[in-house]
Amino acid sequence: MSILEKPECPHCQTSKFVVLVGTAESMGTAVGIGAGAAVGYGGAASGAAAGAALGSFVPVVGTILGGLAGGILGALTGAVTGGTLGHKVGERIDRSRKLFKCNRCSSKIYG
Ligand SMILES: [Zn+2]
Repeated sequence: MSILEKPECPHCQTSKFVVLVGTAESMGTAVGIGAGAAVGYGGAASGAAAGAALGSFVPVVGTILGGLAGGILGALTGAVTGGTLGHKVGERIDRSRKLFKCNRCSSKIYG
């Protein structure tokens, strides 16, 4: 990554107090994790069923635990996949847009 070019604050007329506060990259990652977890949890239905079937060797408790384990695993896998995808999408957006903030007057500046 190259050295960031900081924009000037429109109020203070200097870039001295301007810092990078957020990027679309981190936003994309968060969105991706949420979406991925939801999709992963939905897709985990078969995994949960398999887990429940296996767990059924120990009636009731095994079924519940097996189903839960399958669902959680699916959600985790989905979160990781979604987070990675979201990060990549965000990275693309990030190249054209960065959010800066002036520490002196708290102005938000889009670079
Ligand atoms: Zn300022």
